[in-house]
Amino acid sequence: MRGIRDAAPLALLALARLAAGGPVDETHPRAPDQPLPIEFTPWYCQRCIERELLEAQPRDISITGVPAPELAKSLKIRRSWYAIESPNFRIFSTLAGARIKHNDSRFAAADLIRLKKIFPSFQVGGQGSFVTAHQRAHLYQIRAERILSHSRALTGNKHRFLGMGDRFVLCLFEKEKEFQAFVEEELARPYSRGTPVERKHFTGGDNFYLISTAASLYKGGESELSNTILHHTAHSVVYGHNDYVSAMWGWLDGGFAHYYERRESEEHNFFCLVSADPPKEFLRGNWRRKIRHMVYRNKDPSLGGWCEKTYAQQLSGTEHALAWSIVDWLVQTNPVRLGKLMDIAARNEGRPSCSQAIQEVFGVDAYQLHDRWRAYVLKEY
Ligand SMILES: [Zn+2]
Ligand SMILES: [Zn+2]
Repeated sequence: MRGIRDAAPLALLALARLAAGGPVDETHPRAPDQPLPIEFTPWYCQRCIERELLEAQPRDISITGVPAPELAKSLKIRRSWYAIESPNFRIFSTLAGARIKHNDSRFAAADLIRLKKIFPSFQVGGQGSFVTAHQRAHLYQIRAERILSHSRALTGNKHRFLGMGDRFVLCLFEKEKEFQAFVEEELARPYSRGTPVERKHFTGGDNFYLISTAASLYKGGESELSNTILHHTAHSVVYGHNDYVSAMWGWLDGGFAHYYERRESEEHNFFCLVSADPPKEFLRGNWRRKIRHMVYRNKDPSLGGWCEKTYAQQLSGTEHALAWSIVDWLVQTNPVRLGKLMDIAARNEGRPSCSQAIQEVFGVDAYQLHDRWRAYVLKEY
């Protein structure tokens, strides 16, 4: 792998500089004073071989069981496309080049530095950098693997692909019409503008999860696109923990999706809701103040009353925000027990109710767990 050896000391130096007061990078969820190892290599990419960034035997990557060149042809994609395989993801991207600003996300600067491991001559600017279409596809490789590495460390999951049968798949399109063709032809689903992201579990021997969207659907640019993709990556990682589970507890699933999205940026929050509009008060910005106010006035519905809901779509807007806060609290104060709760949630057979699982893991019922969380909010928010 030409060039990587030379790039590593530079990247480490830059990371050290960032650590000394610059943007925050990932820390280990079970040991916050330790950096989190993020495994986004080795990777395979035909374009990297052509550009002598990678030495490997050329081969085609299959995306939804279809080799990438055939997929591009059948979707009538006229722009350059990229297909990447990394430790836990396969990515098909037609995203265009874009400017990435350090303030797009807490981790943007550190991710751009990681990109140097793949593109040794890539320059990281003081405020941000322009990335080519090829580099942007690899940036999503880094981001997706980073979320998965964090979740893996949080839950102590050691399985290949977290226990799924194959890699998670991201199909990221620049244009809506490419995404529409993909949804209709490859996913065999009706296309609707009201559904800007498609998530699909591929069953049977393959057993993998796919997420797809198009950049042109987002007014908030790269920051909103990235937050939305990582929100859905988090849902998929939760559903794929220890093998695919057909039904999760909505608060845990939704709470994790908002947790991973809001760590990146608080400005773009995606709400998986079936019929209701997203809650205006929680569309962007600081949720803590609003949640503290709710708790102070005793207006927070207890988790005990809604923890059994099966899907995140069944939560109200307020419950989405509370689920985020409860998951965030548990990650920060009790990651090992949260991991145990995830293990129980991911049981396909003999799974207890959520309130029984909470009792088993935390030694209190869901109403009492909620009261502990309330005390934390009143003290810390
Ligand atoms: Zn490449
Ligand atoms: Zn969601």
